[in-house]
Amino acid sequence: MRTLIIILATLMLTGCGQRYSGRGWPAEVDPYVQLYFELSRLNPSVHVAQGDYLTVEFGDLSARGPSVVGFCETRNDEGLVTLNPQFWASADENVREVLVLHELGHCLSFMEHRGLILSNGMASSIMYPYLVPTYMYGPNRLYFQYELFHTQPTITSADHGCTLTSDQLQ
Ligand SMILES: [Zn+2]
Repeated sequence: MRTLIIILATLMLTGCGQRYSGRGWPAEVDPYVQLYFELSRLNPSVHVAQGDYLTVEFGDLSARGPSVVGFCETRNDEGLVTLNPQFWASADENVREVLVLHELGHCLSFMEHRGLILSNGMASSIMYPYLVPTYMYGPNRLYFQYELFHTQPTITSADHGCTLTSDQLQ
């Protein structure tokens, strides 16, 4: 089995550091961002920040660790998702979808990771701390998409000064 690649982490900062250069996201990411908004309509009780809050960029994540392929940072009124461009280029549509939905779970709905493994050995959630691989996600796409918005999320606080908390797992 292919080694699961570590995704993600959430980094919450407020009040310090640089501001993001601009809002929006690349055209090739747009279908997945739109999917997030579409799925979120299934369950309006899950908070979703508006699109004008969000920036998605391709950028160097090597400082976050050798296997980090996506990263979400949030602060008071801005969310930034950074995606590893080499990984993106090599990823199939399923993996791209999982990656973007996962990062938007952090950045738009402030979801924490969900580490549960089901009895059949499958990760229970797109918010699993490691990227859910195609062989799990592809045949169970509707389950994963439903689960994302129908499990009461653990919400991270959006108000914590310059404290840095990372949920990145190795
Ligand atoms: Zn994550």
